This record gives sequence, structure tokens and C-alpha cells, in this order.
Amino acid sequence: MSARISIVKCSNYESAKVQQAIRDALGLLGGIANFVKPNSRVLVKPNLLMSKAPECGITTHPEVVRAVIRILKEINCKVIVGDGPSVWGQYIENVDEVYAVTGIKKVCQDEDVRLVNFDKRRMRDKFPLTAVLDECDHLVSLPKFKTHELTLITGAIKNLFGLVSGTYKTELHKNYFAPSEFAKVLVDIYQEAKPDLTIIDGILAMEGDGPATSGIPRELGLLLCGADCVALDTVVAKIMGVKQEVLTTKEASLRNLGQAQLDKIKIEGEGISKLNIRPFILPKNSVKLTSLPPVITKIFKSLVRYYPYSLRLKCTRCGHCVKVCPKQCIRLKKSGIQINYRQCIACFCCQEACPAAAIGVKKSLLAKLIGL
Ligand code: SF4
Ligand code: SF4
Repeated sequence: MSARISIVKCSNYESAKVQQAIRDALGLLGGIANFVKPNSRVLVKPNLLMSKAPECGITTHPEVVRAVIRILKEINCKVIVGDGPSVWGQYIENVDEVYAVTGIKKVCQDEDVRLVNFDKRRMRDKFPLTAVLDECDHLVSLPKFKTHELTLITGAIKNLFGLVSGTYKTELHKNYFAPSEFAKVLVDIYQEAKPDLTIIDGILAMEGDGPATSGIPRELGLLLCGADCVALDTVVAKIMGVKQEVLTTKEASLRNLGQAQLDKIKIEGEGISKLNIRPFILPKNSVKLTSLPPVITKIFKSLVRYYPYSLRLKCTRCGHCVKVCPKQCIRLKKSGIQINYRQCIACFCCQEACPAAAIGVKKSLLAKLIGL
């Protein structure tokens, strides 16, 4: 199976320049209609990891999002924009803050498209993914070109982690924090929600201890475009100068989900060898939780925990939470509900379904102490 992607240069985020560059990148692959049907509903998912301004190089730049919205509107698509940032606590308020600070809220207002919170979810495979996927015919993913301390690169496959509901992301990080295990989770999500089109924002990239504030922004001046996330990540790693295996790419390739062999990827536009890019500074091999002995890991997993709890005075005993719980671990009692914590996977579908706001979220002491 061969793959085709395109690479174009774009030196800065001037609006007209970004739009032209993305049009060029798509044109090299036959145009937007090769990926997305005209008149369809499209979820556009940027990487909005946290509340940081676009100049920090952590989040997908709003001008990239604007360009994609405009191109989709030209073929009469109905566009919805959203992401599930890595935030905790007052989930909805924090997401709104992320949208404002990253500039995505303004772009969506300017372009008159719906900006949504991923607060409704549906169990797909073993993950609670945003229910917005059900409303849409296509998914267009807009990752950032960054290094990542756990997965080495943040590219096409990793961006899809944001489709998981906010609270459950932490559960996955906790339960699968060995890089090889976490890579499998990311590929499971890719398998479940494969984007029809991915455009990677590498105009301002990130090197060093990415993907957040410990990384170093780096001007790269590139946009990468294609449908095959495995091929795109293979090319991202090559441009970065990564010599090690990228575990997500390896896992996805083993499952035949895309092309990981560089010589079988046809690159339109800028050829990698002619770009002459200095290798990226890769994340340091700092001592991480991932290198702890299994016994410590097990203790850690059991002590870092988020869990739902019943606010009995508010509970009307309507039973909605009982019906939606994927593990069937809620029982209706005379005094309210009882949760079997041995079975609970902390997906928080119950909290979402409760019409009376009678389910709260508690963190374990260790989760609070280490700032999760
Ligand atoms: S009780 Fe059920 S629905 Fe609620 S968080 Fe646990 S597993 Fe999910
Ligand atoms: S959905 Fe809410 S109000 Fe209804 S039984 Fe469950 S906790 Fe109580």
C-alpha cells in the first residue's frame, strides 16, 4: 500500500499566505473534494492542548484553522470546530478559556462556525469519544508539529487523543503510562476515528521537551497534508531527524493502518532531502514514571485516581446514570445511587447523563498532590 502526502512551505501566519499554502498543499493531492464530500458535515479538530497564545507554538495556529474552514465552506460544508484539551476541574469553563486564549474562539466567530465543547460522549470501542463525531460525516485533523516527552513526536496520530472525553484522558495516561502501552491506546483511537484529512501545522514547530511549556518553539515554515496519518508521522519523524522507532507509527503499521516505509510514501511539493533541516532537539531521556519498577507502577496507578461520587441531596433517583454506565456498576438505592468502584472505569458518562447535576468528581489525595 503506497501513500501520498504533500509538503509546502509557508514562512509565517499571515492570513492570505496560510490560505494560499493550504490550497497549494491540497491542490497537489487533487483538491479538497478528494478528501471531503461537498455539502457534508465536518468536524475540524485542531490541537488545543492548553490555554496558551498561538505564538508559544503549543497549539494549532488560528490562521490554519481559518484557512481550512474557508476551504470547506467553498464546497458548502457545514463546519464544526472543537477539541478536548488536557484540562481538569471545571471542565467546561477551562475549555472555554482554552478556546479564547488560543484564538480559536475569535476565528470561529469571524467565520460564523459552531465551536463546541466535547462534553457529550459515546463509548466507541473502549473509549468515551466525543459524540460530535456522530453528527459529522468527516473528520479533519489539524495537529501541531512538535516533539513529545512520552511519544517522541506529536503529529497526526497523537492529535486524535483529544477526541477522548477530558476526564477519561487522565485515566488512560494513568493506566497505560508505559510508552508502548500508551502507543497502542493511541492507535486504537486512530483505528476507531480515522480522519479523512490531516493538515499538520509546522510553520512554528516545537523541539526539545515538548509538547507544552517545556518545549522550545522553532520556526520550521512547513505544512504537511494527507489522509494517511502513519505516512505523515513517518515524514514528521524523518524531518525531525528522529532515529529511534516512533511507537505509534510502528504499532499502526503492524496493524496495516498506513504506510510507515519512507520509500513507499510519495511526497508532492517539497522533497525532504532538499529542505536541509537541522535535526530537532529531541526530548531528554529524563527519569520518568515510565521507567519505574512494575511494583511501584502498580501502587501509583491505584493511588492516582479520579472518581464520580453521588451528591445525594440533589439526586432525584431518575436512573439515567444507571442506564448509561458502560460497566453497569451503578445501583439505584432508596437513598440515591451506589457506585461499585471496583468496576468503575471513570469514564464519567454518568455525570454527563445526570439531569440533576447530582454526580461530582473527586480526586484522590495523590492526584491532588502531584497536581493532576
Ligand atoms: S460509574 Fe459507570 S458511568 Fe460513572 S464513571 Fe464509573 S463506569 Fe463511568
Ligand atoms: S442520573 Fe443523577 S439524579 Fe438520576 S439517579 Fe443518577 S445521580 Fe440520581
